Amino acid sequence: MSLHLVKDTSAAIGVLDLQGGVYEHLDHLERLGITGRRVKKEEDFAALTGLIIPGGESTCLSRLLDTFALKEIIRKYCRRGMKIWGTCAGAILLAKKIVNEEPCLGLIDIEIERNSFGSQLDSFVAEAVVPEVADEPIPLTFIRAPKILRTGKNVKILLEMDGYVAAAEDENILVTVFHPELTGCLALHRYFVQKCGILTSENIPQGFDPFWKSHSWTQFSRIAGSADKNSKLF
Ligand code: GLN
Repeated sequence: MSLHLVKDTSAAIGVLDLQGGVYEHLDHLERLGITGRRVKKEEDFAALTGLIIPGGESTCLSRLLDTFALKEIIRKYCRRGMKIWGTCAGAILLAKKIVNEEPCLGLIDIEIERNSFGSQLDSFVAEAVVPEVADEPIPLTFIRAPKILRTGKNVKILLEMDGYVAAAEDENILVTVFHPELTGCLALHRYFVQKCGILTSENIPQGFDPFWKSHSWTQFSRIAGSADKNSKLF
C-alpha cells in the first residue's frame, strides 16, 4: 500500500475501540492519509475532530459505554463540535429513538429498528448511488442491519431504499446502516473526513482503493501479536 499525504497533519479521527469493526475503519482512514486513533478512555478524545462508532453489537457496545463511563464524555465532545459517524450498531447507539428499547446516546433525531431485515442469514449486499457522497455507485453491505424508520426535520436523508432510510445526517452526526469499511470503497470515509473539516490529498483514490483486500485490516489487529500497527500478520 502506498503512503498518502494529508494536508492537515494535526487532525485526527478516533475510532471507538470497544467492540466491532474497529480495525477495518482504521485501515480505511489510513488509506485516506488520515491519522486514525483508537479511542477507549476520556484522554483519547482530546483534539479529535471526528469519532467513528463502528458496527458490532449495540447491546454489548452500550454496556461497555456504561462500564467505561463514556456516554456523557461522547455527548460532551459532540456538543463541543466533534463530528460522529455511526455505522450499523453505531447508528443504533446514536439514535434518539430505538423501537422497543431505550435510546443510548440519543444524539440524532432518527427512529431506528434493530435487526429489521431478520437474522444474520438475512444479511445481504447491494449498491446505490448516493449523490452527496459520490457519482459512482457505492457497494452496500448490510449485516443484520437496522432500518431507519423516521427522520426528524433537521436530519437530511442521504439514501432511501425500499421504504426505509439507509444513510442520513444532521450537522454533527452521520449514520449509515451498512458497512463501507468492509468494502474497498473509500467514498463514505472521505465524506465523513470532509464533514470533519479535514482535507485529503488529491492523490488518494476517489472511490475504490485498488490495493484494498478483505484482510487488509489485519495489520491493525491485536491478533497480530501486538497493538503496534507496524506488526503485520501477512
Ligand atoms: N444487529 C446488530 C445490533 O442490533 C447490529 C449489526 C451490525 O452492526 N452489523 O446491534
